[in-house]
Amino acid sequence: MSEVPDRGAERGVNRPPGDSGLYLDGVTVRFDGFRALNALSLLVEPGELRAVIGPNGAGKTTMMDVITGKTRPAEGVVRFAGRDLTRMDESAIANLGIGRKFQKPTVFDALSVFENLELALKAPRGPIACLRWVLAGAARDAILATAQRIGLEARVHDKAGLLSHGQRQWLEIGMLLMQDPQLLLVDEPVAGMTDHETAQTAELLAGIAGGARSVVVVEHDLDFVRALGCRVTVLHEGTMLSEGSIDHVQADPRVVDVYLGR
Ligand code: ADP
Ligand code: MG
Repeated sequence: MSEVPDRGAERGVNRPPGDSGLYLDGVTVRFDGFRALNALSLLVEPGELRAVIGPNGAGKTTMMDVITGKTRPAEGVVRFAGRDLTRMDESAIANLGIGRKFQKPTVFDALSVFENLELALKAPRGPIACLRWVLAGAARDAILATAQRIGLEARVHDKAGLLSHGQRQWLEIGMLLMQDPQLLLVDEPVAGMTDHETAQTAELLAGIAGGARSVVVVEHDLDFVRALGCRVTVLHEGTMLSEGSIDHVQADPRVVDVYLGR
């Protein structure tokens, strides 16, 4: 029998509800009695990059749905930057600075890279911030800086429809960045990408996290997760199974049993 570590301490459940960062404690989501999340606890510090892995059906997407207000938990605490997210609707949560990238990019094919980024700048979050950009005449600079950050500076005037699959994913990340999110949730970003694009995406996301901005990435590709170089949370049956470095979780017998060993 392997020694079972003190999972309470590991999960951070003894820590007080932080007034910064993302804090989930005892979160349960039921669908017709089935627990998609089962007393899930998670703490992500401001500026932290976190990877979340786990088998299909583990509850990874449901966790993101709870954070963004799409799904209400039956029980538990969900806080970000000192705010109780369970009392806020989806648009209020988005306005708080929580951005989400879905698996399927929602870029506008008929518009250029520049125009897509410009649209994102004008989107609802932060009209004051938006006005400030316009007054300073800096919108163009902000757009070009983001295009450079996502590696599309040479493609700014090309239509999004001409981009590769990976470049479209980056464009959508760029569109989210135009809103200056404080927490970015990214669901399976490298599915279908080439190895080179996958490596570049790891670099991009690692660079986006930092300062006050946290990034949570759900992904199956363990080489990609390793390249992120961050703490990893393993979900299984709606709860946290293991947490730590990629080496730690890959060596954890519980993780090997339910996920890696298959
Ligand atoms: P993952 O993203 O880790 O693959 P999900 O969060 O999508 O897992 O799903 C967790 C479990 O909850 C799955 O068994 C799934 O079938 C179930 N589930 C998710 N959303 C719903 C829903 N709206 N109604 C019923 N069951 C759901
Ligand atoms: Mg999912």
